Amino acid sequence: MREARQNGVPVTVLGGGTNVLVRDGGIRGLTIRLAKSLTKVEVEGMSVVADAGVLYPVLANTTAASGLAGLEFATGIPGTVGGAVYMNAGAYGSETGEVLDWADVFRAEAGEVVRMQNSDLHLSYRKSILHEHPDWLVLRAGYTVGPGDAGLLKARIKGFRMQRMNGSPNKPSCGSTFKRPPGDFPGRVIEAAGLKGTRVGNIEVSPVHANYLVNLGGGTAEEALELIDLVRRTVREKLGVELESEVRVIGEP
Ligand SMILES: Cc1cc2nc3c(=O)[nH]c(=O)nc-3n(C[C@H](O)[C@H](O)[C@H](O)COP(=O)(O)OP(=O)(O)OC[C@H]3O[C@@H](n4cnc5c(N)ncnc54)[C@H](O)[C@@H]3O)c2cc1C
Repeated sequence: MREARQNGVPVTVLGGGTNVLVRDGGIRGLTIRLAKSLTKVEVEGMSVVADAGVLYPVLANTTAASGLAGLEFATGIPGTVGGAVYMNAGAYGSETGEVLDWADVFRAEAGEVVRMQNSDLHLSYRKSILHEHPDWLVLRAGYTVGPGDAGLLKARIKGFRMQRMNGSPNKPSCGSTFKRPPGDFPGRVIEAAGLKGTRVGNIEVSPVHANYLVNLGGGTAEEALELIDLVRRTVREKLGVELESEVRVIGEP
């Protein structure tokens, strides 16, 4: 990142790439993908330190197997630790900010690593201070978990997985497309607006779960963005509900 900065090369950081829609022109400059590279997990007592590239389902399994409770929700989130801090990712009524203590963040502009405490990260619903600092890179994160029974925790994870398998489409997607509007669910309002099964090109509002836009094969980012726009407009016109995208759009048209 330092070299890139010095040479004016733009940098894009990816974890697992599970919450990004890359526009059809691709990404210029240097792209750093951390999944599968920074993958160490250390457990000491009730504290867990995980590198940014550790996959969240792996973290859920590792901690549960050690009899540590609190990260079971991570099983349903296919991204990395870094991406989960960035997004304050959550599922099944829990989210990252509830168990996260700190994150070590490389701040490219200053060339230093700063340990940012939970409160410094300004975590809110699918948001963090990192959204305002594209030059900041999460290197690792520290969590505090509680004691639990390994067998029960594994059963809980299995339950979450079953729920997921039955309630979400088995086709490529970015997961939830839109954030929850106040007091409601995006899947419910999109379905109520009659949009299930709507297609633009090869991108479809999933008939299984309306907040998932799935790629039926060969769909383009442009089609996905057009469908996102169509869904937002229709839901606004028919139900007066404003939907905000959860997916991060990156790259060039
Ligand atoms: C099938 C499916 C189901 C999903 N279910 C859920 C769910 O239940 N709950 C939920 O919250 N999300 C869900 N998601 C979305 C996604 O998995 C999460 O947002 C996840 O936290 C993204 O992690 P990632 O590593 O893939 O990040 P990426 O998609 O790679 O990146 C997302 C953003 O984070 C930034 N980023 C990534 N890593 C770092 C880093 N180390 N340092 C700084 N910035 C970084 C990127 O620049 C980008 O802006 C789902 C996605 C899919 C495909």
